[in-house]
Amino acid sequence: MASDRVNLLGLPRAELEAFVAERLGAKPFRARQLMKWIYRRGASDFAAMSDLAKDFRAQLETVAKISVPEIVTEQVSADGTRKWMLRMDEVQGIETVYIPEPDRGTLCISSQVGCAMDCSFCATAQQGFNRNLSVAEIVGQVWLAQRELGDSPGEGRKITNIVLMGMGEPLANYRNVVPAMRIFLDDLGYDLSRRRVTLSTSGLVPQIYKLAEECNVALAVSLHAPNDELRNELVPINRIHPIDELLTACWHYLDKQNGRSITFEYVMLDGINDRPEHAKQLARLLRGRPAKLNLIPFNVFPGTRYRRSPAAAIVRFRDVLNDQGIIATIRRTRGDDIDAACGQLAGRVTDRTLVRLGKKLVSPEPTVVLR
Ligand code: SAH
Repeated sequence: MASDRVNLLGLPRAELEAFVAERLGAKPFRARQLMKWIYRRGASDFAAMSDLAKDFRAQLETVAKISVPEIVTEQVSADGTRKWMLRMDEVQGIETVYIPEPDRGTLCISSQVGCAMDCSFCATAQQGFNRNLSVAEIVGQVWLAQRELGDSPGEGRKITNIVLMGMGEPLANYRNVVPAMRIFLDDLGYDLSRRRVTLSTSGLVPQIYKLAEECNVALAVSLHAPNDELRNELVPINRIHPIDELLTACWHYLDKQNGRSITFEYVMLDGINDRPEHAKQLARLLRGRPAKLNLIPFNVFPGTRYRRSPAAAIVRFRDVLNDQGIIATIRRTRGDDIDAACGQLAGRVTDRTLVRLGKKLVSPEPTVVLR
């Protein structure tokens, strides 16, 4: 039956090798050929895989499939940013954004349908949480974007960077996000260097320790406040894992991975966290550490109570940080005319959370502390 067929999209290399050996009695190099077809050439049809024997292709048809989410809508911004909404089922949709720049092209992908972290300034949080994306649904976003952009890994490629900065908290879907990232890094997958795959987290400390042991990618951390009092309000997970615990995990991550630095994201909210004293507090937290600050002008969305800090306040904030020896840059807003900017992704989510983090303290997933 069609539904029993295994979706090969997103299967880690070792699992694909085991699959072709056990189910099809084929040699491991067949798995490598399949990976090239799926990720390099963006194939979804076994019949088209011309260097595979006809019998083998026919056999594959019966036990396997390459199935990707369906695109519901595409929007193109005046600045060239593209946003796709992908159907997850009859009602749910998630969003993926491509951001072209002169020297690179960044694909911003989602990891969950909605989000349970409940950050007070984020549009996705307003939608609530429905479910985790599967490995195939995460990898499928790259597969689809590549197809839509006419792109493939290699010289002159359009997708040079992947960031897990779309809908969802990637570390709350650790089990599926890590295998997906391995496909991004695999030279038979999307063949990206570890500096070009970035996972952004609101601060799930136990999973940062786990990730340090298991997967080598760049880490971005949504800090947004220089003290616990304020961060408790903006990023509720802080009430479980406060700033000093989070920063300790960050430095551990870099040590383990031999990484260069961590990017801290800081959304600029008018009159909330944008005063020069906040910049000085931040500098005290991060001075002498391998840290970069990325200041994100707040992007408005319907129903928000926050306003974007005035441009002059953002520049002054950056200058105070720079004067204190902290590297800080201002993120250019992209795609806001199509609601594709940071924090504007809403997709279509039916909230299934009974209690959200900000309302009551619940851990989004049972967590294991590895130290
Ligand atoms: N859940 C992960 C991944 C989301 S990344 C995380 O929190 O890191 C998206 C980034 O945009 C995060 O730093 C997030 O805090 C920030 N963001 C959320 N809402 C925003 C908004 N309205 N304007 C600007 N940035 C926002």
